[in-house]
Amino acid sequence: MSRLYAPTLKEDPAEAELASHRLLLRAGMIRKQAAGLYTYLPLAWRSLMKIEAIVRDEMDARGAQECLMPIMVDADIWRESGRYDAYGPELMRLSDRHEREFVLGPTHEETVTDLVKHELRSYKQLPLNLYHIQDKFRDEMRPRFGLMRSREFIMKDAYSFNATQESLQESYDGMKEAYASICARCGLKALPVVADSGQIGGDTSVEFMALADAGEASLVYCDDCGFAADDEAAATRVAVTEGPGDGALAKVRTPGLGTIEKVAEFFGFPESGTRKALALVDGEGSPVVAIVPGDHEMNEVKAEHAFGVYHLMSEEELEGAGLHKGFIGPVGLPAGVRLVCDESLRASTSWTCGANEADYHYTGARPGRDFEADAWADLVSVRAGDPCPRCGKPLSGARGIEVSQVFQLGTKYSEAMGATFADESGVERPLLMGCYGVGISRTLAAVVEQHHDERGISWPVSVAPYEVEVVALTVGDDVVGPCAQRLAEELSAANVEALLDERGERAGVKFADADLIGLPYQVILGKRGVTAGTAEVKVRATGERLDVALDEVADWLA
Ligand code: ATP
Ligand code: MG
Ligand code: MG
Ligand code: MG
Repeated sequence: MSRLYAPTLKEDPAEAELASHRLLLRAGMIRKQAAGLYTYLPLAWRSLMKIEAIVRDEMDARGAQECLMPIMVDADIWRESGRYDAYGPELMRLSDRHEREFVLGPTHEETVTDLVKHELRSYKQLPLNLYHIQDKFRDEMRPRFGLMRSREFIMKDAYSFNATQESLQESYDGMKEAYASICARCGLKALPVVADSGQIGGDTSVEFMALADAGEASLVYCDDCGFAADDEAAATRVAVTEGPGDGALAKVRTPGLGTIEKVAEFFGFPESGTRKALALVDGEGSPVVAIVPGDHEMNEVKAEHAFGVYHLMSEEELEGAGLHKGFIGPVGLPAGVRLVCDESLRASTSWTCGANEADYHYTGARPGRDFEADAWADLVSVRAGDPCPRCGKPLSGARGIEVSQVFQLGTKYSEAMGATFADESGVERPLLMGCYGVGISRTLAAVVEQHHDERGISWPVSVAPYEVEVVALTVGDDVVGPCAQRLAEELSAANVEALLDERGERAGVKFADADLIGLPYQVILGKRGVTAGTAEVKVRATGERLDVALDEVADWLA
């Protein structure tokens, strides 16, 4: 430790709100370069390498192949996919000396699709899963929580290419399994939360949410049947998947009711292939939902096409009707309902600006004008204690950190970019794709959120920078110093990673740093113990202390 570059801080840095941010700074593990840009110091880097090793192990075990794509990518392929404009200000754009345009990849669907489209020709080469571990760049609006939401961060992103939906499902299920295992091996308690709960008969996207009070997502889950959802999206989202112009018009969520199909069933709509929900406003400006047959162009929908029109009830109305939050109630056709999308809805800017496909946009809808923003947010949430939409048991609540996400992309990128393969009968088809991301640096922060106390971090062994700190309480004497040195060597011979604190600091400073840095075990060597042939072993997580004979310490820890 006398040579380790890990400058610890006694005081809490003022800028750090989250425990992970505060403790990683204090333990001398990260330093800020500029907003959202961090250096990982040696201790953090060791932990990150361990997380990466776990991720690699789980990927490789499922046949994914590691490669490394460039960070800086030609803007043209982002134009080809349509995301150069759609991605918004999070996309970092730059040009070279020849004024050719590039982006710093926030994710690599375009890059990988462009890679395989030239040389992947036949179904015989499928399935294929390529992954890399790399720095990503997103110009986040508020990069203020340390590694939790930085602008440059480490991600493992994998992309599967498949010939059939069944094969895509297999790749996707394999990745989902891998992600659950990655969380568990990193010591994270996490819930797989269905991100596209509008789907019936299986999910096509799941986010792994590490449970922590610091999490941005508010979750509800059922201990009984395993249902878990973002409370805003709980149970369902009746999403408009097609709208005027640039995509989704609005997302309408009806927690507690199930999918749009369930809504339809519940209210007895006629059977029909696809259905759409249309969020509109009535003459008074209240939000209204119309359920219409799927084969109508959105901007041609007329009142008489609708199976039903519903308004989102106020809290008092809900209570009066004996319904729980988030219910939508049939209202017939109130006077002044406009079932035609008007130009003003179409032209205004997007409300929630989610950068990826998982986030549906309220394109065009303006809170305050089209909805009362607060009332809306309140109406759509399902709280702990509400009945589980799957089994009816009361839901529990928690907050979560999104550490990873799996996603079935289908042919979105392959069609846009012309990535096809020849199927068994020689017909050219667009590749089916899935993408699978793990936030490596965010995982580190999430581990700290789940494993700390008021004195510092308390690492799980699997991702700790070292397993043991050997604390020599006195140095420069011929009793404790040489013994500590010998013990450190013995430990490393037994493959136990040990950090030796042989600094000329007071015992109090050493204890405080040991608890702050938080290696799982401390082996404390003092003059009295060493003379009597014992060391004190302290388990960081529990505070448990026990005396172990000096010549048994290595065995005890190995
Ligand atoms: P968020 O909802 O937190 O903005 P995201 O859904 O935009 O994340 P993805 O596109 O799904 O993120 O990227 C895969 C993973 O990368 C995320 O699950 C997360 O762990 C990590 N990640 C995304 N943005 C950041 C960031 N700004 N800083 C650190 N990690 C991030
Ligand atoms: Mg994001
Ligand atoms: Mg997200
Ligand atoms: Mg995500």
